Amino acid sequence: MGTEFLQIKEPDEAKELIKNYFNKYYNPESEEVPLEEAYNRVVFEDIYSRIDFPPFDRALKDGFAIKSEDSYGASEENPKIVKIIDSLEAGSYSKKTVELGTTVEISTGSPLPKGADSVLMVEYTLKDGDEVELYKSVTPSQDVGKKGSDVKKDSLLLKKGVVLTADKIGVLAAQGFTTVKVYKKPDIAVISTGNELIEAGFELKESKIYDVNSTMIKNGVTASGGIATKEGIIKDDYNQLKSTILNALKKHDVLLCSGGTSAGVGDVLKNVLDEIGEVKLHGIAVQPGKPTILGVVNDQLVIGLPGNPVSALVIFNVFIAPVIRELAGISEKSLKTVKGTLQKRIHSAVGREQYQLVTYDNGDVIPIFKDSGAIFSLARADGYVNVSKNTEIVEEGETVKVSLFN
Ligand code: AMP
Ligand code: MG
Repeated sequence: MGTEFLQIKEPDEAKELIKNYFNKYYNPESEEVPLEEAYNRVVFEDIYSRIDFPPFDRALKDGFAIKSEDSYGASEENPKIVKIIDSLEAGSYSKKTVELGTTVEISTGSPLPKGADSVLMVEYTLKDGDEVELYKSVTPSQDVGKKGSDVKKDSLLLKKGVVLTADKIGVLAAQGFTTVKVYKKPDIAVISTGNELIEAGFELKESKIYDVNSTMIKNGVTASGGIATKEGIIKDDYNQLKSTILNALKKHDVLLCSGGTSAGVGDVLKNVLDEIGEVKLHGIAVQPGKPTILGVVNDQLVIGLPGNPVSALVIFNVFIAPVIRELAGISEKSLKTVKGTLQKRIHSAVGREQYQLVTYDNGDVIPIFKDSGAIFSLARADGYVNVSKNTEIVEEGETVKVSLFN
């Protein structure tokens, strides 16, 4: 049994290594999804308009389509009178041509009839049998939405990487799209390891605790644009772990384990990976979270997160979420950080980068001082402050950057 970490890597080195292995074994893939199910998906390639919009010159108001000339000089005192030759509702069009002295009654959205160049709003008219009095003059094109004035055919509508929200989906609906090509979600298996772990819903026996990590990390994967499947809670048992890993890798792209990543008794992940694949990274010089593993098994990646939930979450956020987002097409620009004023000094061990959990409240950054096994600190944490390895103290009152969990 291995009793030592491989050479421990600095965080930047570890990040680079993890990124390189992801790029080596995985490529972003696309899939076509119905527009109705496209919420929050990421556009895979630039999308161009298929039609002019509006597809025809149309009325922007309810009123009367006229030759503008017919309205010149019209006023309350001196109305002009034209003859109504047709009446249109939205969705229909007129076969008639508007000549001088005639008009077509029109509703918003209807195609402007031939011959007409403008619309006079109904508010400035008075209908009288088959005639109408015009009380105001209009300029050519007034209250007409020209064909293609909103968007011309073959214009860039949405760029690769755009996250589809209701508004963007509306743009595609206006163009008659029924499906959209989006990034396929990276498919990730999640397992927890530890003899002490009990699945929620079952009785908590002596010396046991509820499994936190599979549910927490699964949701972290979802938030990063991936799709995660729980593949179970595994005992610290060499054979069980080995068969679970091999099985999960058949069904999913990547495997995220937690627990059993140290080099102690019962920490079997490294040994299993040594047998069925190769360990590429064991140990990152960070606090919390040092015992982190990256393994390659048959051109697939297995990541071992520390079992401690706070460490697991921080390591996931700092080192793993970025590569999942990259595969999912989500740009790093969308990540939120905020600046604030530190309310209490932070002490940090020199030589290790530290991720200090904090509460962020309207510009105030309040460190949460608990040992790293304190899962309930997460209930109050909004994110973390990154304390570099050569910094021993960050003073109260300093401006710090908070990486938000959400
Ligand atoms: P390990 O990394 O396996 O040495 O675990 C470190 C600490 O985290 C121990 O106190 C474990 O009981 C705890 N732990 C490990 N995995 C989980 C989990 N999935 N949920 C909650 N606590 C865990
Ligand atoms: Mg354990």
